[in-house]
Amino acid sequence: MEKWSELSYKDDNEEKQKKSELFKILLEHEEDLKEFKKRFGTEDACRNQLREWRWPNGFTCDRCDSRKEPYRNKNRKNIYQCRDCGYQATLTVGTIFHKTRLPLSRWFLMIYLIKITDKKIRLSYFQRIWGTNNYKAVWIMADKIKKALAESDDYLKLVGLAD
Ligand SMILES: [Zn+2]
Repeated sequence: MEKWSELSYKDDNEEKQKKSELFKILLEHEEDLKEFKKRFGTEDACRNQLREWRWPNGFTCDRCDSRKEPYRNKNRKNIYQCRDCGYQATLTVGTIFHKTRLPLSRWFLMIYLIKITDKKIRLSYFQRIWGTNNYKAVWIMADKIKKALAESDDYLKLVGLAD
């Protein structure tokens, strides 16, 4: 399959890689994953999507209801500052991504893969995809995602899997 930075994992033995369950999963969903990458391959794309999801009728200040395009700071990209009252809204507040140090694109991908594989994907596969030894971080992400998906379809909408 085509290499995709977030979805190409390295295995010393190519034959072993081709036989692996993870490889089969990625291959099975190759077309979907290509589309997914086009849509959500960058942090900016994920952030824009999250913004639309949080404020489906356009940005609205939580404090004064101003609908003017908020100020942005290129060093604090999750902050949206109201032009009228100065209130700073944080994009991730009230979401499972709040205070995460991990890229939104990882979260989006995990939500997507958990859903399209019907929760069959193993957490250790995410470690291989991302090349991380930190199982606990992966576990915490998955736990938050599974709980959120059990409650509503909201996060499926976020990644384009529900209307
Ligand atoms: Zn305001």
